[in-house]
Amino acid sequence: MSKKINLKGENKMKVSKRAQAVQPSATIAVTARAQQLKAEGVDVVSFGAGAPDFDTPDYIKTAAIEALNAGHTKYTAAPGIIELRTAIAEKLKAENGLNYTPDQVIVNIGGKHSVYESLQAVLDPGDEVILPNPYWVTYPEAIRLAGGVPKVIETDKANDYKITPTQLADAITDKTAMLLINSPNNPGGFTYTPDQLADLAKVLEGTDIIVLSDEMYEKLIYGDTKFISFAALSEDAFARTITLNGFSKAFSMTGWRLGYAAGPLEVIKAMARLQSHMTQNAVTFAQYAALAALGPQAEQTIEGMRAEFEKRGEYMAKRLNAMPGVSCTQPTGAFYCFPEVSSHYGRNIKGAEINGSMDFAKALLEQANVALVPGLPFGCDNNVRLSFACSLEQITKGLDRLEKWLNQ
Ligand code: PMP
Repeated sequence: MSKKINLKGENKMKVSKRAQAVQPSATIAVTARAQQLKAEGVDVVSFGAGAPDFDTPDYIKTAAIEALNAGHTKYTAAPGIIELRTAIAEKLKAENGLNYTPDQVIVNIGGKHSVYESLQAVLDPGDEVILPNPYWVTYPEAIRLAGGVPKVIETDKANDYKITPTQLADAITDKTAMLLINSPNNPGGFTYTPDQLADLAKVLEGTDIIVLSDEMYEKLIYGDTKFISFAALSEDAFARTITLNGFSKAFSMTGWRLGYAAGPLEVIKAMARLQSHMTQNAVTFAQYAALAALGPQAEQTIEGMRAEFEKRGEYMAKRLNAMPGVSCTQPTGAFYCFPEVSSHYGRNIKGAEINGSMDFAKALLEQANVALVPGLPFGCDNNVRLSFACSLEQITKGLDRLEKWLNQ
């Protein structure tokens, strides 16, 4: 007979080894404390946001309402409605120079789901995934959940936190199944140039390594930064790449949960098979809203938000670099500054020992009421991440506090 569950908690409820192995987000403590302070009425400035602060544009909301009224409230095909997959294929052709058929496109429940599902579709136990550091916190967990092994490549500020072709070549073993590349980068705020990506793509030629190219921040690039899809680098790159993108960041639709992947037919079909048993389809009326999002108003809508982010990012980086012991590369993409603050490690600020990014974030929050994200869970304990997805007024206020705090 199986063990009885004791509801008083004496015999613990069984939790799978798989679930136990997932690390709780190391940022949770800071976020929870920031929320607690806010609830207590403390005026906290938060640089923690991973979502644009703009509302979803009205034309997209209207399309969702119209879809509901038109009765688009039932299941769709697992990979998504054909109209949306066709529109995504057209977008990828017109803007990215990629020739995918609608069958090579799958709509997922957020880009996070696209990452998870593509790893589940490709990896076998023990397969290695090359992961440049800094990396988005979800990647290592999603790789491990698919049985894979993250092979982290260390980078440094001198090379703008980018990996070099030599580093990539050195990281390849006979177990390497994938390279996961994210440009523009969360948390780093940097973007690989087309030449830098082309040099990485050359290293992969002649191998059977798949590339997962997370292009979620494609539209949020600044200055003279050029974006290129990894799959557009060459025929060889096209054949080995899964292109991942979504609606969250470009259209300020994080809550709608809409991401997509495009790539080799076998992989997309495998993802659709998995999806048909996991979640079926992305929310039906949200898919119609996504279709509208990609319509003629897309370019102007995105540009309005992008231009605003650009101003804020320039200001934030300039201010950070003027602070003692803070060094920040100018963000070329996404909406994050990722300064190095490690020269403050070893200090004692008003009784708080600062021995890493977690201590730094905690003490800053408690003493100066500024919330930011420690770099440790992104692989870089020397850094902290500040999002500029908040108003210039908030940015100014938060940076004034940070500066004062560091100067004591
Ligand atoms: N990729 C990167 C690099 C991200 O930063 C995020 C969101 N933080 C995602 C994918 C997933 O976005 P979503 O699930 O909201 O579509």
